[in-house]
Amino acid sequence: MYKHPLLDRDKMTPREAMDVLIDGNQRFTKSISLHRDFLDIVDITKNQQHPFAAILGCSDSRTATEIIFDQGLGDIFSVRLAGNIASQFAIGSLEFSCKYLGSKLIVVLGHSNCGAVKAACDHFTGGYIGEILKHIEPAVKHEQAIAGSLDSSDLAFVDRVGHSNVAFQIQTILDKSEILRNMLETKQIGIAAAMYDVSSGLVTFDHSQSLF
Ligand SMILES: [Zn+2]
Repeated sequence: MYKHPLLDRDKMTPREAMDVLIDGNQRFTKSISLHRDFLDIVDITKNQQHPFAAILGCSDSRTATEIIFDQGLGDIFSVRLAGNIASQFAIGSLEFSCKYLGSKLIVVLGHSNCGAVKAACDHFTGGYIGEILKHIEPAVKHEQAIAGSLDSSDLAFVDRVGHSNVAFQIQTILDKSEILRNMLETKQIGIAAAMYDVSSGLVTFDHSQSLF
């Protein structure tokens, strides 16, 4: 099995996987990302992948997970959809990463100033975008029940919905995936909630919403 040159993933716990991501984001925000010879890693990983984390993030062009967590090829199983929604296909991808590739941690990663969340706040309905936004509506309703009928013009509200949306997507994963629920209960994996700030580059893990 492929071993990362810096990590022994088979012995890694879900919390240690989270610590690796936190350390990587610290490097990113300090502009001291590791120098990697990517072609070297291409060669190391050509027959096997063994990503230690699966990240359900937004497709937003500013939230590339490998970059913001300072990871190389083969490190992160990256599932990206607008609004970091736990669609059936996203959940299937997370199951694949954890059950068959040995990932120790799922991170559901929302971000500030998210366009999909803004569209959901404004109840946009066009095309297939509306299909995406249906997954974010529970978070909008939840936050509007607290704050009243605010919309995307209130950026603080948008970010609160984005934060809530992460929790709702985690709940959807647990409700729908027996495989991941069992892996969590037997402590083979953890599921972490996190938000990325597009203005600072910082990822903040929400430990109260994370499950280990
Ligand atoms: Zn987004």
